[in-house]
Amino acid sequence: MNDLQRMMEILTENGLADWTINIDPKSQAYCWISQKKITLQIEDCFGLFLHELAHALAPEPEPLGKGQHFHGGHWADKFTDLVIRYMAEK
Ligand SMILES: [Zn+2]
Repeated sequence: MNDLQRMMEILTENGLADWTINIDPKSQAYCWISQKKITLQIEDCFGLFLHELAHALAPEPEPLGKGQHFHGGHWADKFTDLVIRYMAEK
């Protein structure tokens, strides 16, 4: 199983079977909530994938300081859970 297949499997495990992953060297890693799509620059960036997946699982804006910030406590809890679940044995 390659990295992309593993990431698709993880989407499904987290109830996001209808999401897609776009590998695009010209774009930054990003989570497109309304389009149900995660964009990554390269396939081999599992930590960034989990970062964006946490956004998909905690999509609400969490205002922190100036403007909208999406890395608040709800996102951080999701990200921590994902790291423990999927990166613990590495
Ligand atoms: Zn982020």
